[in-house]
Amino acid sequence: MTILDKFLETHILSTEEYLELLSLRENPETVKRLQDEAVRLRKQYYGDKVFTRGLIEFTNYCKNNCYYCGIRKGNHHADRYRLTCDEIMECCRSGYALGYRTFVLQGGEDPYYTDERIVEIVRSIKQEFPDCAVTLSIGEKSYESYQRFREAGADRYLLRHETADEELYRSLHPAEMKLSNRKQCLYHLKELGYQVGAGFMVGPPGQTMQHLAEDLYFLQELKPQMVGIGPFIPHHDTTYANEPAGSVELTLFLLSILRIMLPRVLLPATTALGTLDPLGREKGLAVGANVVMPNLSPVKNRKKYELYDNKICTGEEAAECRGCLSRRVERAGYRLVEERGDAVS
Ligand code: SAM
Repeated sequence: MTILDKFLETHILSTEEYLELLSLRENPETVKRLQDEAVRLRKQYYGDKVFTRGLIEFTNYCKNNCYYCGIRKGNHHADRYRLTCDEIMECCRSGYALGYRTFVLQGGEDPYYTDERIVEIVRSIKQEFPDCAVTLSIGEKSYESYQRFREAGADRYLLRHETADEELYRSLHPAEMKLSNRKQCLYHLKELGYQVGAGFMVGPPGQTMQHLAEDLYFLQELKPQMVGIGPFIPHHDTTYANEPAGSVELTLFLLSILRIMLPRVLLPATTALGTLDPLGREKGLAVGANVVMPNLSPVKNRKKYELYDNKICTGEEAAECRGCLSRRVERAGYRLVEERGDAVS
């Protein structure tokens, strides 16, 4: 049996076997068979539905210094901002009216937002919009903090593991950041009953196929409900300003593999994919993705949440963003729905 047949039949491989599967990434027949099976599975579980998440980037202050990221602490050119609880609520109100039933609060690791402040924000959203899910994406916290947010009503948490390989993790982050802690956080979040999202960038400096095989194996073990992957894109004020961006084709190949590995997973066609390729998000949907995350942040702040250069959708009002994505989703043969969009069990 070939490695492709084995994967299509069992949906489970070892790290070495994932490496072998990845070596076939330029073989058109392999790409096509993976894509067909990914689409079959996404349709089996989610039909033609595409879920939306209203993304609210509420702070670009960050105490971390990830070498690839435009809002890292060491970037003194970043124009910093924070949204108040009232401003966040305004974003949710306009989002709700447009049909969003999930709000994602994402930000740098900003100590201004103490646990009390996060709890207040989560409670306010859940009180006014009890039919909506709240997703947090605010980095590494203690078990107790995650517990407080969960008790306040947070439903989901996005924390990309970034890379499952110790050495690569160390080369992309300063010494005080530890992969073991990030992984521990993901297991804590699972234990607390969050729907958990992990993930990684495709093509940051130093990443090899061996690293990606380790990422796939890690996700197979963790079994998260959501996986966020997108190509690395350089930012002009980082160490990696002159490094090449990650590959769109490889990202699409990996999306197919992830859909087959975790058939019920919530898999976004990311903004980074749409930044590198004008049709990137449509292509993501065509290989197994079933989520899009349009921006709900106030337009005046959008350009400041600059993780990488040339980020798209930074000049449009929320309604325009929704309309544009709805048309893109329809062109890809799917349908944007007004639902919380939980993973099917
Ligand atoms: N602070 C939170 C955290 O650490 O999880 C959430 C915000 S963080 C900026 C969100 C994600 O942006 C990261 O997990 C990383 O994968 C992605 N990211 C950062 N810089 C990037 C770049 N240059 N290209 C592509 N993605 C990037």
